[in-house]
Amino acid sequence: MSRPIQATVSVSALRHNYAVAKRAALQSKVFAVVKANAYGHGIERVTRALVRADGFATVELDGAVATRERGFAEPILLLEGFFAPAELPVIAAADLAVAVHGDEQLRMLEAWRPARPLDVFFKINTGMNRLGFSVESARGQLERLRSSGVAKSITLMAHFATADGPEGIEEAMRRFNQATHGIDLACSLANTAAIFAHPESHADVARLGIGVYGATPFAERSAQALGLKPAMTLTSELIAIQELAAGESVGYGGTFRSAGAMRVGVVACGYADGYPRHAPSGTPVVVGGVRTKTAGRVSMDMITVDLTPVAAARVGTPVTLWGEGLPIDEVASAAGTVGYELMCAVAARVPFMDAA
Ligand SMILES: *Cc1c(COP(=O)(O)O)cnc(C)c1O
Repeated sequence: MSRPIQATVSVSALRHNYAVAKRAALQSKVFAVVKANAYGHGIERVTRALVRADGFATVELDGAVATRERGFAEPILLLEGFFAPAELPVIAAADLAVAVHGDEQLRMLEAWRPARPLDVFFKINTGMNRLGFSVESARGQLERLRSSGVAKSITLMAHFATADGPEGIEEAMRRFNQATHGIDLACSLANTAAIFAHPESHADVARLGIGVYGATPFAERSAQALGLKPAMTLTSELIAIQELAAGESVGYGGTFRSAGAMRVGVVACGYADGYPRHAPSGTPVVVGGVRTKTAGRVSMDMITVDLTPVAAARVGTPVTLWGEGLPIDEVASAAGTVGYELMCAVAARVPFMDAA
């Protein structure tokens, strides 16, 4: 027997979520974003589950090349493009599409004599202020890209900073339209939040990240309300039970103290598994199918949970940390973070399993 923690990834949930987003995006193509090892779900597993996707987008070159080598024939977009000239022949050989967001990349392209030209996503900075050509410089830089002869197609691209919030995308759209007015090229703008909240941004290619994994980008709209199902379920078991008298504490620092006599369960899952160390006492957890809460600090290999509502709990009782039966967004919110971070942080020591 090995330690009972395990992450299960549902192929049918991934496909369901992709289909939900595809319907929401109407006629647009939808690329599934599989950066960061498919948001922690495993890029090979996810790209196999979504072989019928319109395309994939990622950040890591090795995962993109491996996806192509497994036979995926649709576009695979590198969202940050390339970082050094040596990557260009590899990118061309695998026929990957690249974001081009800055002057240094343009210079590398101009200096390169490609055996095959590339599909280029020309990125414009519409207010995120991370990557992209400024609204003012975009036309001139686009001309440089065109005359370099390295692009076999050009798609105009931007990324929203506030598609998930009350600020919305109006100002970003205004800047994008100002930069690209009169230029007749395909466009790619929308992330998950914009797919669900801003149809005017769907354009030719949408980029679906968090939604395909069944979590929400919104603070105020749950994944369930969007019609999404959790792809990853993180489970473990109780490995010990403690009977506390009133006034006893649990765990490092003794931050939780029992008001009366109570039972506390010890779960084989800690921050070295990717459970957020900052999750305070009271973070939701499901034990034996019953919702309860954590009690005391998260330690490296264990968390402790209040068994008051779970009279039947014993050593070996199953525990769900997040996923089916407990939205990852609720755990993230209790821990002061977002579902994105929790799913990306599941540690290498946690075994992953496929589920139908
Ligand atoms: C990660 C990423 C996305 C996906 O964002 P979600 O909020 O997960 O849908 C889309 N576009 C770019 C450029 C990204 O880096």
